This record gives sequence, C-alpha cells and structure tokens, in this order.
Amino acid sequence: MTEDRASADVLQSALAAATDTRVLTAGTDVLGRTGSVFAEAFGTPTGLPSAQLIADGNTWAVAGEQVGAALRQAGVGLGEPFIFPAVPTVYASYDNVERIREHLRAQDGVPVVIGSGTLNDLVKLAAWELEREYLVVATAASMDGYAAYGASITKGGFKITRYCPAPAAIVADYGLLAAAPGRLTATGVGDLVEKIPAGGDWILADALDIETIDDDVWHLVQDPLRDSIAHPELIAAGDAGAIRGLSEGLLMSGLAMQAHQSSRPASGAGHQFSHLWEMEGLGLDEEPPLSHGMKVGLGTISLCALYEVALNRDLATLDVEAAVAAWPTWEQMETRVRGAALPPEVTEAAVEQSRLKYLAAPELRARLERLRDLWPGLAQRLRAQLLPAADIQHRLATVGAITHPSQIGVEEARFRATYVRAQMIRSRYTLLDVLLEANLLEECVAELFAPGGFWGSQPWRRPGEVTN
Ligand SMILES: [Zn+2]
Repeated sequence: MTEDRASADVLQSALAAATDTRVLTAGTDVLGRTGSVFAEAFGTPTGLPSAQLIADGNTWAVAGEQVGAALRQAGVGLGEPFIFPAVPTVYASYDNVERIREHLRAQDGVPVVIGSGTLNDLVKLAAWELEREYLVVATAASMDGYAAYGASITKGGFKITRYCPAPAAIVADYGLLAAAPGRLTATGVGDLVEKIPAGGDWILADALDIETIDDDVWHLVQDPLRDSIAHPELIAAGDAGAIRGLSEGLLMSGLAMQAHQSSRPASGAGHQFSHLWEMEGLGLDEEPPLSHGMKVGLGTISLCALYEVALNRDLATLDVEAAVAAWPTWEQMETRVRGAALPPEVTEAAVEQSRLKYLAAPELRARLERLRDLWPGLAQRLRAQLLPAADIQHRLATVGAITHPSQIGVEEARFRATYVRAQMIRSRYTLLDVLLEANLLEECVAELFAPGGFWGSQPWRRPGEVTN
C-alpha cells in the first residue's frame, strides 16, 4: 500500500506535466475504478456522457465484463460494444480505424478502449477524427504508446505515424498487466530499454547545441528506467512488482512525451531502426505481426554496440579538417540518400529529413571543433548513461524478446545497411549523425561486423533459430 502510494505520487507528478491526459489511475485491482475515472474525466455539471466500449476477443475476455460493470455502477450508459475477433490479431490498418470510427459515429459517447497497443492506436486516431476524447484501459505493458500522443497505422502497405492526442484518461491495473502474454511484456521491455541509448542521443544533441535537455522531462523518463529493467527474470516470471516497475516506466515515458510535445525524451536512433523496418513492412504479414517493441529492442542492442565502438575512440584528437574535407555537398548528400534503396514512398521524406539537418562545411567545422573540445567530459557523461550491448542483449533474451536480426529474417547485408539508412529517415540528431559528420560512421560500423566485432562474433542463423 505504501509502495503503491509512493509510485502513485511519482505518476501523479508526471501527470501534472502531461498535456492531454487528465486522469490516471494505476495500481492493483483498479479495474473497478474505471467508472469513477470516467466520471472524473468526462462528467459535466449536467451529468455523464455514455461510453462506447471497443475491445478484441482477448481483451474483452480478461476485462470486458469488469469494465462494463464498473461503468454501469457509476451510472454511465453503455452502447453496443465493438469487439474484434480474438484471431487473427487486429491489424493496425487504416481500414480498421474507419470501421471503429463509423461504429462510434452512429451514437454519441466517449470511446473506452480495452487494449494497449494496436487497439489503443486505432481508437486514438478514430476518436481524434471524430473530435472526441477517449479513455484507455491498458491490458499489457507492451509499449509506451498508450500514454502518448500519436498512432502508428498502416495505410497502403506502409506504416506511418499520425498525430492524434493521448487518451484523456488511463486505467492501468497491474494485476491485469502481469497476466498478459509474455511476448507482449517482452515487447514492452524492448520499447522501454531504448530510452538508455536515446538518452545518450539527447546528451549529444544537447552538448552540440542542437536540442537542449529539459531537466524535468529527462528525470521523468530516466529516473525510473534502470529500476524498471533491473530484473528481467522477474519480469519474465510475471512477478507483480517487476511488472509494475515496467508499466510505470512505460507510463512515465508516455507522459513525458506529452509534457515535451515531442518523442525526443523517449526515442532515439534505436527507434529509427524500428521505424525503418516498419516502413519496409518487415514482419507485417506475420501472425501476430512483428511488434514495435521487438524491433526497438533490437535497435537498442544495435545502438549500444555502436556507442561502445564510438566511445573506444578518442574524439578529442579528431582531425576536424579531414572530416570537413570528406563532407559531401548537399547535392552529393541528396544523391546518397536517393541511392540508399529506401522504399520509394519513403525516399522523398528521407531527402527532406536529411535536408533539415544538413550543415554547410563552415557550420560543420564549428560543430566538430566543439565535439572535439567537449569530448573528454562528454564521453564520461555518455559512459555513465549507457549500458553494454551484451548486457542489453542478455536482458532482452531473458524476457524472450528478439536479440538478433536473423530471428526476424534480416540478413547481414540488410542489417548492416540499416545503420546507414536509419540516419536518413528522421531529422532527429543522434549518434548516427555525430559519426556521419565526423566521417567515422562507415569505419565504426565496419568494426561491429568485423571478425571479433559485436555482430561479427555472432553467427547469422536461420529465422526461428534461437540465439544466445
Ligand atoms: Zn516506442
């Protein structure tokens, strides 16, 4: 109870900083409070609106009756629920957004979605298109998106992120989250652990005067992070305390993105690996589709390995003039992006994103001189922030997450190219940019794949074969 209260205080302070979410109840056995949360968030002096429940067969089975009962008990009227079948897994497609939207449109009422990942994203966008707020009852600690704005939706075969506000109210019942299938919890660990190298990326962007760290937001994400991932074996065993830590880490991260109005606090180059694979449609046709957090976890290992290689170099002795001499003109850079074999639909956006962060030679020289001069202290800050790639890989293996590209059918050449392509698709400044600008990206990546390097020493296996 005391522990519940202490963690509740931390969450409430994060909630105070959030822009969209007004009411949050997280704890043990809190499903029964859904009605009072609903009333607090959506009640007006003239009464309560009705609610429209959306679920799938799985989430309805674990929480549908209880949520419905709690709402009725609070005097909330309920329309006919919209329940997707349990199988096949609901797909995060725009078709499904439209199906939900048309169902919702038929009557007034506040959407209440029972589900964390795909279902939440679908309802988030459908509700936004109807200019309605909504409530989410989380059913798995599978990603930070249930407390964040934005929805990742596939349209025309490609996954895109659409803007839409975060839920106005959130109910997170730790018992329910602990009972979720292990693969969903594993994907949540993958999404959360990326905040480690993402923090490194933000430290770099801050030091080079590109994107200042907001201390309050930083602490929301980074303070609970290490504890949240400290005991992967307990997370894998469904231990209530460990699942609570994971869930809180994800909630804090979602609320921090609201507070910052940007995904910077919770997303770095490790996420860009995942975004690129999503744009390429990797694993979309699997049943269930390859999840966000599984790809992000692998991106996290990839970035931590690259940080290790980078931190083995002494950039205090960087040859700035040689790097400036090797720097492409914008025309050459554009040619490079266009030649990177990105999906055609992604190429134009990648050119634009690359243009946004492209520097002319004089500015590049100034930035690299700053990097060189700051390096001793900066490297120290980064070492304190990061964890070894092998450590992250071990933790992810312990919870049953993806730990090697061959498990998702990505062969070595494609994976190696991901280190180069991921830099192109977002203007966000990360370690990939630092190394590209210092003319070190190619040689650092080569080192990872050389015999004895992090990836070079791990044999590529057939999909499905387990590594570690
Ligand atoms: Zn994520």
